[in-house]
Amino acid sequence: MAKAAALAVRCGVAVIDAPVTGGVAGAQICLQLPAPRWTPVLERDGQPVADVAIIGGGMAGLALAAAATHKGLDVRVYDESPAGWEGPWAITARMQTLRSPKQLAGPAPGIPSLTFHAWFEAQWGRAAWDALDKIPRLQWMDDLRWYRRALGLVVHNGHRVTDVRPRGGGVVALQIDVSGRAITAHARHLVLATGRASLGGPDLPRFVRGVPAARWAHSSDFVHGHARLPDVWKWRIRHCINVQQAPPPRNSTLRISRHANAHVHLGCAVEAVSERDGASRVDTSQGPIALDFLIVATGFVVDWTQRPMLRHIAPLVRLWQHRWQPPADEADAELSASPDLGPRSSSSRVRAPGDRDWNAYTASATRRRCRWA
Ligand SMILES: Cc1cc2nc3c(=O)[nH]c(=O)nc-3n(C[C@H](O)[C@H](O)[C@H](O)COP(=O)(O)OP(=O)(O)OC[C@H]3O[C@@H](n4cnc5c(N)ncnc54)[C@H](O)[C@@H]3O)c2cc1C
Repeated sequence: MAKAAALAVRCGVAVIDAPVTGGVAGAQICLQLPAPRWTPVLERDGQPVADVAIIGGGMAGLALAAAATHKGLDVRVYDESPAGWEGPWAITARMQTLRSPKQLAGPAPGIPSLTFHAWFEAQWGRAAWDALDKIPRLQWMDDLRWYRRALGLVVHNGHRVTDVRPRGGGVVALQIDVSGRAITAHARHLVLATGRASLGGPDLPRFVRGVPAARWAHSSDFVHGHARLPDVWKWRIRHCINVQQAPPPRNSTLRISRHANAHVHLGCAVEAVSERDGASRVDTSQGPIALDFLIVATGFVVDWTQRPMLRHIAPLVRLWQHRWQPPADEADAELSASPDLGPRSSSSRVRAPGDRDWNAYTASATRRRCRWA
């Protein structure tokens, strides 16, 4: 017993992986997961057609792959990143901890031992869990790596999807770049799980236009139950988030402000940026500031034209602006250009090559499913 407990502390993953006694493998055996494939086999151009192709093997892509695989679907996940480096966590993100509370269930599809809580406590114990404030960023990446391994999810890494094109008969073709070699894959359903900037890109303010690239950079480095709300409230809530913006977590603010050379200029609008005497001059509503380098942490913009991969489907996707006109004082360009699921009871016709739903699990879609317009 003591030996087992020691093992739990040292490599808790092994213990929570233990079959039948609990853990992920045990849960899968008891729940008979994944279900055997039940969908009809379909071929196109001599190649198998997957039931679901997921572009993006980050948090959302993995969670969807787990859910669809458990339902007995044939799923293919493609990600351009190397294995274990999906999403922003170990690449561009710089914060010490997640802003999300540690207790959130995350991508665990109803299996308690797939939660971050179980993963953490199995390795470091209850006291360490109680003492933990927020989830360290790289530990979250480790947890996602383990999640993928524990569920045996297959992600085709190093696969960059460059084009998606509807074909007849309810099939979509994906053009994929694999180390410079172009391959084609087919699927019945397509999920875009391509992350925060995937329906556009960084939202660059006008004042950086014309400023030499060596002088500035964009941070580039970053919602449930929502579906049941009436349109007026869906819009109002998202619009409020856009206008108010999420404040930085308190501990992040304290971590920065304790440095003597960190200054927060509140009520200070940036009006223009120019280069002068080898430095950037930033004109603000409180006067000029000289900087060596400027980082514009101004978020992302939804602009389908920035993503060549989406050029064939962008004109076909129904957007919020096609169905919902907000009151003038709630106008919101980002929401207007975001994919729209439609009211749950919608009977609107799908004008579609293939007559299929495509799913967008991008931040701007806020887990909405987009239909052909
Ligand atoms: C600094 C920062 C802090 C954050 N903190 C939090 C937090 O505390 N809590 C929280 O819930 N969220 C946080 N987020 C948001 C976070 O990005 C998302 O919650 C999470 O990563 C979303 O997962 P995702 O799967 O939708 O996208 P991602 O994790 O971004 O994964 C998208 C994947 O798609 C792949 N991809 C994109 N285009 C293609 C293509 N054409 N072909 C193949 N692959 C492609 C990418 O390589 C990437 O791996 C933070 C984000 C940032 C940047």
